[in-house]
Amino acid sequence: MPRPKHKNAAPAAGRSKTRDGSNARPRPRPKRPPATLYSAAEIDEIFRRFSIQRPEPKGELESVNAFTLLVAVVLSAQATDAGVNKATRELFRIADTPEKMAALGEEEVGRHIRTIGLWRNKAKNVIALSRALVAEHGGEVPSSREALQALPGVGRKTANVVLNIAFGEPTMAVDTHIFRIGNRIGLAPGKTPEEVERRLVEMIPPQYMRHAHHWLILHGRYVCKARRPECEICIIADICKAAVKTNDIPAPLVPIGEGPPPGARAGG
Ligand code: SF4
Repeated sequence: MPRPKHKNAAPAAGRSKTRDGSNARPRPRPKRPPATLYSAAEIDEIFRRFSIQRPEPKGELESVNAFTLLVAVVLSAQATDAGVNKATRELFRIADTPEKMAALGEEEVGRHIRTIGLWRNKAKNVIALSRALVAEHGGEVPSSREALQALPGVGRKTANVVLNIAFGEPTMAVDTHIFRIGNRIGLAPGKTPEEVERRLVEMIPPQYMRHAHHWLILHGRYVCKARRPECEICIIADICKAAVKTNDIPAPLVPIGEGPPPGARAGG
C-alpha cells in the first residue's frame, strides 16, 4: 500500500499549487505582442506621407450605389477585385437595387457570377440579402454595423468596408494586405484580423482614419507585397522596422493616382 504523503509535503519540482490546492504545472503567461513598434510621431508621419501620396484613395471594386457596393464586397471574398468587376458590370447594369436583384433570382445571378469562386453560395447570399433589405429595411442599405452583420453573407469585414465607403465611417476592414502589413512591419501585430483592426483603430490619428483602410490596402497591393516587399519604391522605408526590409531610403513623396507607384511591378 503506498504511503500517504505528508500534508505539508512540498509540491513536486516544477509544479505549483493552484487556487483549488491541486498540483499543476505552472502555465506560461501568454505573451502579448506589443501594441505597436512605432511611436506616436512615427505613426503620424507614416499616415501623413500616405495622405500626400494618395489624397483621395478609392477602392478598386466597382459599384454604382451602396447596394451594389455591398453585393460587390460580398462577392469579393476569396476573389480578386478585377475578377469581381468583370462579373458585376453586366449584373449591376440590369440589377442595381435589392428589388431588381431579388427579382432576377438565384439562378440568373449565378449565371452572371459563375467566374467568381464559391459562386453558388454567393448567389444564394446575394438573393437572401436582397430579400432581407426589401423586407426589413425598405430596400435601403442600413448604416449600422449590427443591421449590416445580420444580413446573409455579411461579416465584420464586409460591414466595415460598407460603413467606410458608403457612409464615411472611420472603420478599418482588415483584409489580407492589412493583416500582413500590421504584422510584418510591427505596426499593429495581432493573431486575428480583429486584433489588428482594434490596434489600428486605436493608434491611427483621427484625421487619417477615413482613408487609412485604402492607403494600407494599396500599399500592400503595390509596394509591401506578400512574396517580396518592394522596399526600393516605399515612401516609409526610413521609418519601417520590418525585419525583411531591404532598403532604408524612402522613395520620393509625390502624389500619384490610384494605380501602382512609379517603378512598381505587377503582382503581389
Ligand atoms: S520598407 Fe519594405 S517592408 Fe517596410 S513597409 Fe516598405 S515595402 Fe514594406
